[in-house]
Amino acid sequence: MHTDVEGKTVVLKGIGVSPGIVIGKAHLFDRFDSQVSFYKLRDKTLLSKEIKRFRSALKESEKQLLEIKNKLTEMAGREPLYIIDVHIMILKDRMFINHTIKKIREMGVNVEWALSMTIDRYRSIFEKVDDEYLKGRLSDIRYVGQMIMRNLTGKGRESIADIGEKGVVIAVDLSPADTARMMINKVLGFATDMGGKTSHTAIVARAVGIPAVVGLESVTRSVRMNDNVIIDGSAGLIVINPDPEMLQRYEDKKKHYEETQEDFLKYARLPAITKDNYKVEIGGNIEFIEEIPSAIVHGAEGIGLYRTEFIYINKEQLPTEEEHFSHYRQVVGVEGLKWSTIRTFDLGGDKFYSDPKLAKEMNPQMGLRAIRFCLKEVDLFKVQLRAIARASAYGKTRIMFPMISGIEEIREAKQIFCEVKDDLSAKGVPVGDDIEIGVMIEVPSAVIIADELAKEVDFFSIGTNDLIQYVLAIDRINERVTYLYEPLHPAVLRLIKQVVDTGHRAGIRVAMCGEMASEPTNLMILLGLEIDELSMNPLAIPRVKKIIRESTLKDSRELLKKVMTFSSAAEIREYVKRYMRERFPEEFPNNNH
Ligand code: PEP
Ligand code: MG
Repeated sequence: MHTDVEGKTVVLKGIGVSPGIVIGKAHLFDRFDSQVSFYKLRDKTLLSKEIKRFRSALKESEKQLLEIKNKLTEMAGREPLYIIDVHIMILKDRMFINHTIKKIREMGVNVEWALSMTIDRYRSIFEKVDDEYLKGRLSDIRYVGQMIMRNLTGKGRESIADIGEKGVVIAVDLSPADTARMMINKVLGFATDMGGKTSHTAIVARAVGIPAVVGLESVTRSVRMNDNVIIDGSAGLIVINPDPEMLQRYEDKKKHYEETQEDFLKYARLPAITKDNYKVEIGGNIEFIEEIPSAIVHGAEGIGLYRTEFIYINKEQLPTEEEHFSHYRQVVGVEGLKWSTIRTFDLGGDKFYSDPKLAKEMNPQMGLRAIRFCLKEVDLFKVQLRAIARASAYGKTRIMFPMISGIEEIREAKQIFCEVKDDLSAKGVPVGDDIEIGVMIEVPSAVIIADELAKEVDFFSIGTNDLIQYVLAIDRINERVTYLYEPLHPAVLRLIKQVVDTGHRAGIRVAMCGEMASEPTNLMILLGLEIDELSMNPLAIPRVKKIIRESTLKDSRELLKKVMTFSSAAEIREYVKRYMRERFPEEFPNNNH
């Protein structure tokens, strides 16, 4: 993970109130609203001028709200949002208007100050009521107040309309009217410090289909103008300045999300079973526990890969055992998931080198990464292992070690895990008694000695993202060599076949959790290879299930047999593409797949 101080990658967790993923340039909106100007009017003649100013700002605000309401009604026949009517009513409310005018007169102050006093008065009244709904109305009064303030301060103030189609809005808070205006102006999404799931801003965001995360507390302090920002409204996360790898991951998620919006979701809850009754287990890959609900909704039967290194992101200090534990417990304890695979952290190399223990390396992908780093920093590793062992008492847990390249590494990792478990048991701490142990097969040497590794573990999980980069000698984040990145390269297929066959001969399960597992074009090849479990970005699951359900194992085996006779990646790729297009004309209508 690239983490230089300037463009540092930061992930913030808030409340996802409107689903979807967008990636764009940050626009910090209305940063100055909290400062209300105060001045005394020099003489009485200025009073009526000030009141006039107030009335014309009220009029202007009403005009703007009506405009928004009309546009919303025009657009795709949307119901006018009743909350806009409520705001118009506030603008016309006698008490609201009279109280403000009274303050201008009595105190001889500017309208902004008088208006803020009116809002304070409402606040003190509303704070005393017990009714949550009524309390919520205070925010409507505040939003209306803000709108009037903006109109008072005139044209110099920025407007959502200036932000443009490529922007994401970052603000302390936004009114429902601002949110509605975002749709009109095609702003991509927004993130705010304040707000909750049921606030009107959230409701409007869902109604107009703008991905949004609220309640982030400090997002306006973490983001700078024009920073690259990802808003994941489904998981309630925002990523500021994503590094290329993270960006790629989110581009994929976005693509899958958009595809899922069609009618794939109806396949989510169905099993991935071919027409001739061959069942594949489907897992979800997650980076954050906030993604668990999305994994369940999209039809994950278990978690096939939890990338725990993301617990370390943004951290000045290393996470404590309790922090680890609280994450793992939540993953393994989720109802509706049959198993949870916790991968020990794949840190090191280019990931999080801000930690003093991790030196910057020339060739980080092949450096002191993942299990190599863990076995060097055993104390640090044990913190995570203890937390996993403790969490295993709460649900079906699998532990998986990344980047295993030789037998010693898995033996040593298992030995340390055993010590940790024994130590906990001796202290009377409950530990699950059926934790499965697995290795990621993502280094070519692990494929070659898969028969030896199989004796040590309960399952394999093929990490094609790394395996392909090492086998074909291409850096997975170097865009200059991406043209060589070929999941259907004959060398890759032969390796995968070797892993599956070796694993099955040894009687263990073989999963795949790299991106290759989620690419629909590959699915019949993967079925033909007889991989037991495919784990992927949750948003990709419904479509994958649909295709599996419309395939047969028999045809998949034949397709695989055929392509194994080809000698080049291009031949296989083209053949498979054509085959899939002919077999599933609706799924693959053009050349883009
Ligand atoms: C992989 O290498 O395929 C994998 C799933 O792990 P990661 O992408 O986290 O390296
Ligand atoms: Mg990997």
